[in-house]
Amino acid sequence: MTIPAARQLQTSKTSTADQEPTVNSPREIDTELSEIYAPYAQHVATIETAQKKAKLSYVAKSPERQEELARIIDAARAALAQLDEAAAPLEAIYRANPWTRFFLVPGGHLHSSRRCGSLRWTTPVYWLPEYSGKTEAEIVAQAGERACTICYPSAPVDRPSQLPVHVAEREAAAAERAAKAEQRRNAAAAAIAVGRTTYKTQRAAENEVSRNIETMISRRYQDAADTAHRAHLDNLAAEDEAAAREIVDALAAQIEGYDAAGILAKKFATKAKEFRKHGWKIPADATF
Ligand SMILES: [Zn+2]
Repeated sequence: MTIPAARQLQTSKTSTADQEPTVNSPREIDTELSEIYAPYAQHVATIETAQKKAKLSYVAKSPERQEELARIIDAARAALAQLDEAAAPLEAIYRANPWTRFFLVPGGHLHSSRRCGSLRWTTPVYWLPEYSGKTEAEIVAQAGERACTICYPSAPVDRPSQLPVHVAEREAAAAERAAKAEQRRNAAAAAIAVGRTTYKTQRAAENEVSRNIETMISRRYQDAADTAHRAHLDNLAAEDEAAAREIVDALAAQIEGYDAAGILAKKFATKAKEFRKHGWKIPADATF
């Protein structure tokens, strides 16, 4: 069983205001052909898949399944034959007096034929009928390094393509890179460095301030067993206090107009209220 040469063709944008196609121009004919051939690859894939399935051992044992696959293959072949039939009159015009044709692999090269040896039938290829009949040297010069060197041995490999599709591709890639760089810059600007620790955001740094204040309160207002225990708890509370202060000072250094003292006072009041709710005795006039 042989598979017809695959032609996965799709139309691309064809109309431009500045060009007036003549009737039956290469561009018109190829535009029509690319539309006719659009479903081609799908039918070829259907045949390939069915042929692979037919070789499976469990299918070989099932006459019903074999018949079903044969029907699928026949239907796809009939569909291909219909496409070829529809294309035949137009292909005859081309064969009588061939013109240049251009095929583009997305993200790849520009080819003069879908049958270029560097392509597999599964490679998606876009026919560019808007270039049909144009001077090959001109288009190849524009395509630069994106021109296939098998199809166009004289292709200039040392300069970027100026084909609109590739220019747009490069612009989109550059815009994406710029957006990512901007994102990284913003993230870096948002990060708060405190000594050896880096908080990803202001919020993360302030959450750490809250945690420090919470432990500070628990130590400062805890009942001590004796004088030594009191001194120990006070030392720990002083460490928590220093840690909280270091973070808000770092925030103040990096954020214009940051009210470090105000943040400490507000967070202390919030936490003290929570502790009181749980029965802790914290003087009403207690502050950070
Ligand atoms: Zn090629």
